[in-house]
Amino acid sequence: MTREQIVLALQQEYAARREENMRIYEQRRSEACEKCPGLAQVLDARHAAVLQGVRTSLLNRFKKPGENAELPNAMAVMNQRIAELLEAGGLPKNALEPVYTCPVCKDEGYVYDPSRRMCACMRQELNRRMLTELGLADNGHTFEAFDESLFSDQVAEGEVLSQRQRALLARKTCLAYADSFPDTATPNLLLSGKSGLGKTYLLHAIAHRLVERDIMPVYTSAYHLLEVARQAYFENNSEKLSEMMNAPILLIDDLGTEPMLQNITIEQLFNLINERQLRRRHTVISTNLTMAEFKDRYTERIASRLLDESSWRRLVFTGSDVRKKLKRSNP
Ligand SMILES: [Zn+2]
Repeated sequence: MTREQIVLALQQEYAARREENMRIYEQRRSEACEKCPGLAQVLDARHAAVLQGVRTSLLNRFKKPGENAELPNAMAVMNQRIAELLEAGGLPKNALEPVYTCPVCKDEGYVYDPSRRMCACMRQELNRRMLTELGLADNGHTFEAFDESLFSDQVAEGEVLSQRQRALLARKTCLAYADSFPDTATPNLLLSGKSGLGKTYLLHAIAHRLVERDIMPVYTSAYHLLEVARQAYFENNSEKLSEMMNAPILLIDDLGTEPMLQNITIEQLFNLINERQLRRRHTVISTNLTMAEFKDRYTERIASRLLDESSWRRLVFTGSDVRKKLKRSNP
């Protein structure tokens, strides 16, 4: 699902929620009216007064102000009377307050302050669903939760920075990239290095941050990408592939772990990277291959695309596997 499809689904759910809450209110109202004699008349009178008030203010928009001056007073009197009748019938005096799941937006999903924007309740649910769609909900791989203490602060022989300092620099670069998209310093990022050095984590963190910014990236493992390419090639089903081709930002995880299929892997990958680059779309790739291995596997043609420093920023991850450390600390 695209972001727009998720929003549409949410708007429909909110409409159903408003209807359901209205039904609950009507039920409460008829129960209360049975228990509290005289209540129905006051409720009807209040309803009529509200409608009249709306009508008058619409008609008198350009006339003298203060036409409705009596209305708040009359409403207060009727509200007071309603509370008394409810209490007399043995019900709490707020028993007939409107039923809203979210009192902030009254289940509209949007607030106006003064311009229309999404209420926090819908925004949160939209983010959750976007992450679910990406397969990244609940993994907690955010920039905020990035744990630098997992990386060694010892400076290895021949190095200038510790693994921790390098990890923090990589985090900073990825965060700046996600925060400044689409005006990033380079259109593309390549995170390379062995497994367990934080590449995938940072790729996920970029996705989380984009979603927070209301941008839905396309996220795929290289394995899935190959499957999509295979379908496009053998089954003439290129819908998913063109989605990946056209996505304003595409995140490819773990390039180099997918199986190599004759004629497909290299050609399709080249086309994808090349086309996206020509169309100035943003791509982030994580790979466990060194550039030499990359050339061996995918040919010089693809490697030279990724080595072009004007459009690719390359972050090289080195050091010791932090997942082993994680396992030791959480046996
Ligand atoms: Zn709300």
